[in-house]
Amino acid sequence: MATTPRMKITYATLSADNEELQSAFDAALERARAALGETYPMIIGDEERTSNDTFEDRSPIDRELVIARFPTGTRTDVQDAIAAARAAYPAWRATPWRERLAILRRAADLISERQFDYAALMTLEVGKNRLEALGDVEETADLLRYYGDEFEKADGFVKPMGSLSPTEKTRSVLRPYGVFGVISPFNFPMALAGGPSGGAMIAGNTVVLKPSSDAPLSGWKFGEALRDAGLPDGVFNLVTGPGETVGAELQENPGIDGMVFTGSYEVGMDLYRSFTKDYPRPIITEMGGKNPAIVMKSADLDEAAEGVMRSAFGFDGQKCSANSRVYVEAPVAREFVAKLVEKTREITIGDPTERENWMGPVINQRALDTFSKAVEEARADGGTIEVGGETDTTRGFFPTPTVVTGLPLEHRLFHDELFVPFLVVGEVDSLDQALHEANDTAYGLTAGIFSKDDGEIRRFLDTIQAGVVYVNRRAGATTGAWPGIQSFGGWKGSGSSGKSGLGPYYVQQFLREQSQTVIGDEVPTL
Ligand code: NAD
Repeated sequence: MATTPRMKITYATLSADNEELQSAFDAALERARAALGETYPMIIGDEERTSNDTFEDRSPIDRELVIARFPTGTRTDVQDAIAAARAAYPAWRATPWRERLAILRRAADLISERQFDYAALMTLEVGKNRLEALGDVEETADLLRYYGDEFEKADGFVKPMGSLSPTEKTRSVLRPYGVFGVISPFNFPMALAGGPSGGAMIAGNTVVLKPSSDAPLSGWKFGEALRDAGLPDGVFNLVTGPGETVGAELQENPGIDGMVFTGSYEVGMDLYRSFTKDYPRPIITEMGGKNPAIVMKSADLDEAAEGVMRSAFGFDGQKCSANSRVYVEAPVAREFVAKLVEKTREITIGDPTERENWMGPVINQRALDTFSKAVEEARADGGTIEVGGETDTTRGFFPTPTVVTGLPLEHRLFHDELFVPFLVVGEVDSLDQALHEANDTAYGLTAGIFSKDDGEIRRFLDTIQAGVVYVNRRAGATTGAWPGIQSFGGWKGSGSSGKSGLGPYYVQQFLREQSQTVIGDEVPTL
């Protein structure tokens, strides 16, 4: 495994002109290619469970490339994984929290050490470019570190309370729930498997993870790091297979005490409604976005065009935070669009394992169909395709980054999440109109503004309905959050908890409060 060089790559890292880094990636890619096509087991307690029924994890870069094979898990596999997690729970909960943290910090260090190997596999598995994949892996490690640090800062969430008598001592203690189900999406296949699982485990819960069937290997590699860090069997379990069976069993099984889902609005809302049907259980759903950027005439238009281009087309528009609509003040609209088109034309598209390519494929045929349909619809409804609108399916699922103007602001393409590299730009007459349009959606994940006017910026910050907002960010108009820097969570239809991942209020959600009043001096330490 590669251990050098150590360089912190985040989503805001703009360039990777570092020979040492690139050759470490090349070497990791070679190792990754040599191991393609292996069959991996599910992780159920101390068992590595295989099955005769497997599915192929194919690369979106090249449909012929089988990355790995995984078992098609059944409801019985999920039931067994839940039983294993329940069996491991009492000992894990009773493990002093400093010891739990030490194990998870060790896992974080292993993930960082293996950054290149894990990122190379991820590039092949989901088609992220080199920097994006390195960022995803390092984010996973930093999520474990950050949640651990927050737990430590709060001294394990044991808080002395007041007393009504000299013989009585009371404290508030946050305690774990039991077993958490974690359902993760394809687009941050390690960070969004590892972050929620890590938060749950740091807090003393055990976990059953169901990774996306488009990206099970990155989830599995997270499990590998946990195992190598010495996590006790059963604390982390992983079952692969379709949402309709594996996901559904997690959702319905009463042995699951809490749930974290990250994925689309439709699946998330179904889960949200049904998970608490019989009795209250905590559920965090992090869902989609239709993230706006506002460009005012006071803006630095070059900065705006760069920030929008990076957020609209980074990882092919397949970030939940992707910028998918722009409201630009009419007097600068043409100039802004011209700059945006110019920057978009400069994007290098192709096999993302190659260092020069910034944009790769979308995840599957369904996503490519969504793209093609949006292009057709935009044309049919009078829109202008300023750039893009094409696809290349010779080997994989490659669309071109697309900018569309001329559609009415109420058009579906300004409102529905598409999750492909397709950006609509509309003209507005004022900030008020831009804010009205930006907020006129079921979603509320991220948003950005480009303006040099203090009053406009203040009004934007006061009025915008989104959990993550950015002002004048060239590195990404709406994208690029990092643990401990930008908390990341949605408002309205984008997220249920109001307490974001990557932030200071996250880990508490895996805990419930108990008030302990003890008469006398026998108060056990925790
Ligand atoms: P998806 O909803 O298709 O799948 C997410 C997960 O749910 C997968 O593991 C899938 O197998 C599982 N699933 C599918 N049907 C299920 C069912 N009936 N029961 C239980 N589980 C089921 O989403 P995706 O395509 O993998 O990811 C893209 C979506 O995720 C986008 O909408 C994006 O905005 C959203 N997302 C949101 C955030 C956030 O933090 N808000 C982060 C990343 C992605």
